[in-house]
Amino acid sequence: MQKIEHIGIAVKSFKTSIPMYEKLLNTKCYKIESVESEKVNTAFFKTGESKIELLEGISEDSVINKFIEKKGEGMHHIAFAVEDISKEMERLKAEGFKLINDSPKKGADNKLVCFIHPRECNSVLIEIVQEIS
Ligand code: ZN
Repeated sequence: MQKIEHIGIAVKSFKTSIPMYEKLLNTKCYKIESVESEKVNTAFFKTGESKIELLEGISEDSVINKFIEKKGEGMHHIAFAVEDISKEMERLKAEGFKLINDSPKKGADNKLVCFIHPRECNSVLIEIVQEIS
């Protein structure tokens, strides 16, 4: 894995969270994008080499709203950049990790993504991402 690409943070509402993170990081949110398949809105901030991704549920049954119901707002996942996501998924499967999706899927920010089950990773949800070229 190359680097931490971004950290995902679950929030109740962009209305208050985006201005707060803009103040905190002293940079403007550069992209807001909906991922319909996941029923989430995403908002991105650049912090040097890494990014912060805010996640807001679109509907009641969104995974983000379910997460917030259970655990409250806060850190949701860590995403690592990889060069070849299919190869990395094979490697992780061979190492015994349980992947949440069997094939790479289209995520936000022009990425192919795959999630690793938090059960295998000390309750931390790990995402691996490959830039779509
Ligand atoms: Zn993410």
